Amino acid sequence: MNLPLSPGAAKALALLQAAGYEAWIVGGCVRDALLGLPPKDYDLTTSALPEETQRVFAVYPRIETGLRHGTVTVLLEGEPLEITTYRVDGVYSDARHPDGVTFTRSLRQDAARRDFTINAMAYAPGQGLQDFFGGQADLARGILRAVGTAEKRFREDALRILRALRFASVLDFTLEGETARAARACAPLLAAVSAERVSGELGKLLCGKAAGRVLREYPDVLGVVLPEILPMVGLDHRNAYHCYDVWTHTAVAVDHVPPELPLRLAMLLHDIGKPDTFSLGEDGQGHFYGHPRRSVELAEKILTRLRFPRRTRERVLTLVRYHDAVLEESPQRVRRWLNKLGPEVFFDLLAIQGGDAAAQAPAYCTRLDHLRRLETLARQVLDQAPCLTVRDLAVGGEDLLALGYRGPAIGRALRALLDQVLSETVSNEKNALLQRLAQMDAENTEKMEPCSKKKDP
Ligand code: ATP
Ligand code: MG
Repeated sequence: MNLPLSPGAAKALALLQAAGYEAWIVGGCVRDALLGLPPKDYDLTTSALPEETQRVFAVYPRIETGLRHGTVTVLLEGEPLEITTYRVDGVYSDARHPDGVTFTRSLRQDAARRDFTINAMAYAPGQGLQDFFGGQADLARGILRAVGTAEKRFREDALRILRALRFASVLDFTLEGETARAARACAPLLAAVSAERVSGELGKLLCGKAAGRVLREYPDVLGVVLPEILPMVGLDHRNAYHCYDVWTHTAVAVDHVPPELPLRLAMLLHDIGKPDTFSLGEDGQGHFYGHPRRSVELAEKILTRLRFPRRTRERVLTLVRYHDAVLEESPQRVRRWLNKLGPEVFFDLLAIQGGDAAAQAPAYCTRLDHLRRLETLARQVLDQAPCLTVRDLAVGGEDLLALGYRGPAIGRALRALLDQVLSETVSNEKNALLQRLAQMDAENTEKMEPCSKKKDP
């Protein structure tokens, strides 16, 4: 068997082998190459001890941050390559990281410490594939199986439970029976895993091609790190708009937005405020008045707790806040939204509303046509290079300074002008704006003396 290798990886293997050591590419890159996917990066495993690896690559740039765990990162052909000595992990007394690692000269022992059979294969040109635990067969059947006893492996490091769900989602695989059972049984241990490790895996899970299915199958496991989702499971909408319970609706909606983290997170969290806002009308219909606001509160708590970056958090909260907003099909209203959110977030909002609509009762999917028309409309509006922000106005701070405006009065006047441009009561031309300004000023002066211009003291 021949697997494609990057130039850097090929060179690193050759250099280590020429120095008398065993060396293989291992883990995710072997898995991806066997699947015909381009590997994201190459990890190498070798019988050389870290000092020996350093000697082999003495003349190349190296990063030694992982040395304690036996990892030397070498820069070859412009690629950073992580080269790790065959290793046996020590005890994970905190279900987080090994207390210590021991080096070994056995590739099999190194493979045995890895999480899943499909991640435990090694390959080197000329040597072929080393597959001690049936990884290739599991890969062909679409199965995630723990290496060794699943429960023991999840107790060593509970993050592996979330990694199992992540790979199930990204590769559209299913967990082998005992691995699935152990994942559920050990799920409470996930509570001890650091927020950063959890959010990393959760993000990849959400962006996987089978995210919706994994969400539907494992709310109990995910509920350990996201307890707020649990009341959604099985919660009947009790109204005609919906054909799924709140959690299933959420999972289906996730699959209907592009696999970008803010979109997928927003879809996951958009209805998380529904359980707290449910009420039954006199007509027997279920209502969720004010649920977007409650969803925003809960989403903010969750995203902060899981330490998602601030930018991601803010984007997600905006999308959750407006996921149910009525977007009218008029150029003026669309311009207002573009002004409020910016074009990028506005298009994301259309995607979110589309995902939400696609996961409702088929009769209510007609909203999708409305959203498509809105998208066309927004593109037409943008094609006309509209004035959307104060910076786009045909007058600027200098013009107002020249007219005697000072301090905060400048910003106030510019915002007032923008407001009028957005509602098309004045065109964005310098003379028109200055005239309008004079008018507004006269009106203001009549209303409240002294003059609103506020000169310097
Ligand atoms: P990705 O495509 O996301 O990089 P990957 O499988 O390469 O997936 P990494 O986190 O880069 O995942 O880890 C590289 C390899 O190290 C894995 O393939 C696996 O063999 C091993 N590994 C990573 N994390 C763990 C863990 N928590 N427990 C056991 N083995 C692990
Ligand atoms: Mg990797």
